[in-house]
Amino acid sequence: MNKNDKTIYALYCRKSTEDSSRQILSLDSQETEMLKLAESLGLNIVHTFRESKSAKKPDNRPEFSELVNMIKRGEITGILCWKIDRLSRNPIDSATIQWLLQQNELTIIQTMERQYLPGDNALLFNVESGMANQYILDLSKNVKRGIRAKLEKGGWPNLAPIGYFNKDSSLVVDRERAPYIKKAFDLYASGKYGVKEISDILFQEGFRSRAGNKYHKSKIHKILKESFYCGLMVKDGNSYLGNHEPIISKELFDNAQEIFTEKAHVKHQTIPFAFRGILKCAKCGCQLTATKKKGRLVYYYCTNGKGGCDEHKAYIKEEALSKELVRVFDSLVFDDKIVDLVYRAKLEEGKASSSYLQECALSLQSRLQGIDERKKALLDAYLDKIVSADDYRAKNEALANDSVIVNKDLQALKDKKSDQELVTLERVKNFFLEPKQRRKEFLKLSADKQRSVLISLLWNAEIENKKIANISFKQPFDVLSKIENKDDFNSVRRGGDSNPGYAVTRITG
Ligand SMILES: [Zn+2]
Repeated sequence: MNKNDKTIYALYCRKSTEDSSRQILSLDSQETEMLKLAESLGLNIVHTFRESKSAKKPDNRPEFSELVNMIKRGEITGILCWKIDRLSRNPIDSATIQWLLQQNELTIIQTMERQYLPGDNALLFNVESGMANQYILDLSKNVKRGIRAKLEKGGWPNLAPIGYFNKDSSLVVDRERAPYIKKAFDLYASGKYGVKEISDILFQEGFRSRAGNKYHKSKIHKILKESFYCGLMVKDGNSYLGNHEPIISKELFDNAQEIFTEKAHVKHQTIPFAFRGILKCAKCGCQLTATKKKGRLVYYYCTNGKGGCDEHKAYIKEEALSKELVRVFDSLVFDDKIVDLVYRAKLEEGKASSSYLQECALSLQSRLQGIDERKKALLDAYLDKIVSADDYRAKNEALANDSVIVNKDLQALKDKKSDQELVTLERVKNFFLEPKQRRKEFLKLSADKQRSVLISLLWNAEIENKKIANISFKQPFDVLSKIENKDDFNSVRRGGDSNPGYAVTRITG
């Protein structure tokens, strides 16, 4: 084969960690096989490189680097290796080898199967080292697969967490530290201690790292979040049942997590309590927020965002609020007789004037405009992080729904001829009667459904001394609410031009 006697060869061996379906050769047996080949080909080998590091990343193979240096110095002109993928398994190494071939500083690469020479085989070399790169990717997938397989069998593929030791590829409880872990959970789940306090208490009682140091707040926090201690291993978002002996019960773990959730709620107001977002403090204008107290009762209170509000210590039970919020309907409910009168009056008006439909259309159009403005304001509030993503989505959806309904009505109006006016009048009638029906049903609804009803009626309600002080209604309920005497026919006919009654203020926005 190679009759170039002047070539000075280096033998390069690297152990592959490829899977068992391929034959794995130790460095020694690789070397022995290659030496046999060298002998049969009459190759002049001056140096042997034995690489034990993986070729996954460049600069991670000291022997390879030395090989390249020797080639550059002209001390070596040929390489003998097992397979081409042993030589180059990353793009940088590939490029280096290719460059050396092109410069004729390297004149041949001999493998067990074939020869690679400058020019003719260079392209092939590229392709094959490309395969080598793919192989590395596969290998890393295989490693991940191996980790998952271990997890699925209940084994922990990482270093033992505090409270355990690694022993013979399994975990044993660290009897010295485990009791502190248990105590940390007990203290936290009691709800009486903060993480910092627990860190201090445990330190006083002798909880130390292997280096003798205190475990600080952040570490204790991490421990308290770690389901590993109750036997559940979490890795890349998946849970696995571990074989290790749990230090705490699942129940204790869950209780501790509940405390985290509660504290997070008070701090960040993340979960949507039914009436959150629609209640304001009448004294300071702050939003009312809610918290869950033991026994799962929900309480609302002023966030006192501006400081100095004396209302914020008044906790209102959600149940009590429901009852109070029924009063929202007080300003919307009309006597049936009045409704009938309004209906008939409107009917007469409709007959007298064909402009009624036009008025309706105008009113709907202004409602649409209002919704659009509201949407824009909501988006701004969200972008300014005043409104959470969840609230934004919920409110935006509600607005989108409103807009669909109004659009539908508008379309219906446009399609209608004047003789179909009756249908619209029927709607007017229902619209007056509807609040009554809703009031009847309100208290039977779940808090969530109550919220939907309220959202369809009002922007917000202001609370003072645990009572509704003001309500800001949405259109058209705003008009309804301002009709002073619900049994005064003339007042009803004026459609809310009279003075606002029932301490209702219109808060635009
Ligand atoms: Zn307040």
